[in-house]
Amino acid sequence: MDIILLGPPGAGKGTQAERLVADRGMVQLSTGDMLRAAVKAGTEVGLKAKAVMDAGELVSDEIVSAIIGERLDQIDHATGVIFDGYPRTRAQAESLDTLLGDRGRKLDYVIELEVDEDALVERITGRFTCAVCGAGYHDKFKLPKVPGTCDVCGSHEFKRRPDDNAETVRTRMVEYRAKTAPILPIYEARGLVRRVDGMADIDHVTQAIEAILDGKA
Ligand code: ADP
Ligand code: ADP
Ligand code: ZN
Repeated sequence: MDIILLGPPGAGKGTQAERLVADRGMVQLSTGDMLRAAVKAGTEVGLKAKAVMDAGELVSDEIVSAIIGERLDQIDHATGVIFDGYPRTRAQAESLDTLLGDRGRKLDYVIELEVDEDALVERITGRFTCAVCGAGYHDKFKLPKVPGTCDVCGSHEFKRRPDDNAETVRTRMVEYRAKTAPILPIYEARGLVRRVDGMADIDHVTQAIEAILDGKA
């Protein structure tokens, strides 16, 4: 089972992917995470991507499709993949078809998380993650169960993304509307799109997605 989680920044893609990984043994491929790792490691890709990411604009299609291809090669055929934050443009959607087809894989669902734009700034500016294992949290909506301690790995170190500020979020939303939302019709024409209310609480969103994957919705 290979799926795309689609939605604007802050819609809950990473949060839901984390749960599907834990519940179903799927693998999450987040181009945002891969690019941040490249920036941190100071690779050639990272050097090219950093300023673009800080501005909230999109990194080139060639770069992201290449890194997705490399990662797909490392994943067992039987393991389901969750594409999180990819594809984000028509060109990337076309590349994904080729990347999957070449490896004998196919998309099962494109799950769109529908959210109010007004909620996104609050979600993004309150977002933080565990610095050790990457588990996601929120200042208001998802605090660690024990204050200051990661639920998953027990670490006491957390971090925030430099692009998670109110100004950059606006640019990211404009990019989403202009370049990413227009890929939905491609998948609608293939009957792959399923819509989920992303404004529901985190557990309910997970239940709605699980029902789709189980063929019950
Ligand atoms: P995305 O990967 O789509 O950018 P995230 O999954 O990182 O979004 O979610 C953004 C922030 O909002 C995180 O801090 C997360 O804990 C929080 N969040 C995610 N889903 C919900 C939800 N359904 N209700 C409230 N807060 C949420
Ligand atoms: P969010 O979780 O808020 O949706 P991501 O972590 O997916 O954000 O992406 C962060 C940044 O990384 C984007 O603003 C963009 O600069 C870059 N990026 C991530 N994925 C892609 C992609 N598929 N195509 C182009 N740029 C990307
Ligand atoms: Zn942790």
